[in-house]
Amino acid sequence: MITSYISALFARIEIVELLATSFSFSSRMFNGTCEQGGFRIIKIGMKRSIFFILFLFCRCSGIQHSEQDKLRQQNAKGEFIYRRSNEIVYEIPPIEPRIRDLYPWEQSYIGSIPKITKEWFRCKGTSGNAPKIEEKQQGAPAHFYDCGGTGKHSLPIQNEEEFIFPILIELLNEIQAKTGKKVIITCGHRCPQHNVYADSSSKAQVSKHMVGAEVDFYVQGLEFQPEEAVKWIMSYYKKHPKYHGKKEFEEFIRYDKTDVDVSTQPWYNKEVFIKLYKKNEGRDWDNRHPYPYVSLQVRYDRDRDEKVIYSWPKANGGFRRY
Ligand SMILES: [Zn+2]
Repeated sequence: MITSYISALFARIEIVELLATSFSFSSRMFNGTCEQGGFRIIKIGMKRSIFFILFLFCRCSGIQHSEQDKLRQQNAKGEFIYRRSNEIVYEIPPIEPRIRDLYPWEQSYIGSIPKITKEWFRCKGTSGNAPKIEEKQQGAPAHFYDCGGTGKHSLPIQNEEEFIFPILIELLNEIQAKTGKKVIITCGHRCPQHNVYADSSSKAQVSKHMVGAEVDFYVQGLEFQPEEAVKWIMSYYKKHPKYHGKKEFEEFIRYDKTDVDVSTQPWYNKEVFIKLYKKNEGRDWDNRHPYPYVSLQVRYDRDRDEKVIYSWPKANGGFRRY
């Protein structure tokens, strides 16, 4: 911008010099032939005209600038802020730093570990899993297709809300709080389609996973010490005030029947049933990892004062399909 202005100014000066030269040349010619006083007056007049032209050039640039200013003002847009006479202008208090409130997800931490909620129990099925073909002793091979996962169905519904038995969530959070380690849920809710895909054995077809009353998990960092998790579950029942003095909750009994798929005798009280799967036991689609794991089942609904059992209508009709 400045360079273009300077170059324009120099151009003007050159023109002025050229004009001045031509005028002075013509005046000299005139002087050569006429040396009278009258011609001197004309010569002075010519000099004045040079200055006049120079003045005009300077004025022109000034006019150009003022025109630009006018245009700028015409194009400028804005609105006036009108205030009423009785309006009060309040003073803005000085800015003081303060500690921000925690976001909901920041409140739901145990130490540095996120707190377990029912969201963690969502079905692990996905339409990305390839169909499974299982040969049968009689008849054609069976084909199993996985469900569409969380995008296709909800958790079990109770009182118009997605529902997982709260005791499962409480116990897993207790394990996290006591061990300071993260609980990994390998299998929470299973819809019937994913249930048969994950484990097509006849026993699994009445699994409480389908009604939100069973969870399989291991503890990160304690993968090969699943007994630790069992210990903290039992200690929760012994120490928690709401079970105080209730022997049927405080005391665990060993299950001595042989109709189970584990070599370790399970434990149970009135509310939960605990199974410990060793490294080579209970390997279904959701538990393909190489670690032992704990299975926790709800036996009794404390809020409704009733037994928790699998039922076909609850499993198949107790959740929403999208
Ligand atoms: Zn599913």
